[in-house]
Amino acid sequence: MSASNTKVNLLDFSHEAMKEWFASTGEKPFRATQVIKWLHQMGVDDVAQMTNLSKPLRAFLQENAEIRAPEIVMAQQSADGTCKWVLRLADGNAIETVFIPEEDRGTLCVSSQVGCALDCTFCSTARQGFNRNLTVAEIIGQLWIAKRTLQQDPKGERAVTNVVMMGMGEPLLNFEPVVSALRLMLDDNAYGLSRRRVTVSTSGVLPAMSRLADTLDVSLAVSLHAPNDELRNRLVPLNRKYPIKDLLAACQSFLDKKDTQRKHITWEYVMLDGVNDTEQHARELATLLQGIPSKINLIPFNPFPDTRYQRSSNNRIYRFRDILQDSGYTVMTRKTRGDDIDAACGQLAGEVNDRSRREIHFARIEQGH
Ligand code: SAH
Repeated sequence: MSASNTKVNLLDFSHEAMKEWFASTGEKPFRATQVIKWLHQMGVDDVAQMTNLSKPLRAFLQENAEIRAPEIVMAQQSADGTCKWVLRLADGNAIETVFIPEEDRGTLCVSSQVGCALDCTFCSTARQGFNRNLTVAEIIGQLWIAKRTLQQDPKGERAVTNVVMMGMGEPLLNFEPVVSALRLMLDDNAYGLSRRRVTVSTSGVLPAMSRLADTLDVSLAVSLHAPNDELRNRLVPLNRKYPIKDLLAACQSFLDKKDTQRKHITWEYVMLDGVNDTEQHARELATLLQGIPSKINLIPFNPFPDTRYQRSSNNRIYRFRDILQDSGYTVMTRKTRGDDIDAACGQLAGEVNDRSRREIHFARIEQGH
């Protein structure tokens, strides 16, 4: 093993974990806070730059720790300003992170796993299969890299104000590392993002949703995509394990938690032509969500090679939206951003060393086996 493999990675530490580690080496907790600030507020990549630390502490860190983020192997910018970074991990896998600049905000779409195990039929990440969970350093490293890169941008003024855990993977199936990374996003000594601007998106992993409700005050988005179990079972296979009725109950208790700022659930609904986008579906959805404070995000389907689905026409999307709006819901139709660089929702693929052999499975299906 080379020396660098035995060093701890400072990006793997939550603020709390850093305090504990420092305590175990006889350092004061405020030293941990200083290091967290250097790493995440200032974005330094070298302990030598942490000038307010004592010399012995700096020497100790140089000896025993390193600052290792994923490596940018490709940066692409879309005509609409969306940036996609392909990041190479130490084991050779690649993941993707997307930055979406808008007038009043800059949203970073962060990945939580290498690939995804959930197998939603309309998502290209699912096609790649699943390899492994990301570490804290690999999750927070995406924000660390984005912040440093955007700071260096000569056009300037672009900052990450919002994070959505809507990249590759199911964040709630990688619970602890995701929560540690989220804590750093919210921590005033690190990124200081408001809890309303940090969103976990899930396909509905119910036990982890209730754990999250008790653990951390962040916003929740749920990938619903269908107004009944029969259809959702086909689009989001996880629904067979956790059906809609239980999902809605879990969402309600998420909102009911005391002492939180949670006001609503954001529902994501991908618009698939002729599959889930009829007026009847819209009415069924309006009835289903009655009583739950909701915002509904309609996402025009983003195609990828060999998919069996097509995007709903704008007219169908408008009709669907109008029915929901007439029933009193706030509805956003997500603009398709970055699709010229395959950075749009469901197009993130990275390069996954698939261990679930899903590519083979799909190849067999396509050959009629
Ligand atoms: N696993 C989590 C996080 C991924 S989020 C979740 O399911 O919520 C990515 C969002 O984009 C989800 O709402 C997902 O359903 C949606 N999506 C996936 N494939 C898509 C596609 N091809 N076009 C549009 N949206 C898609």
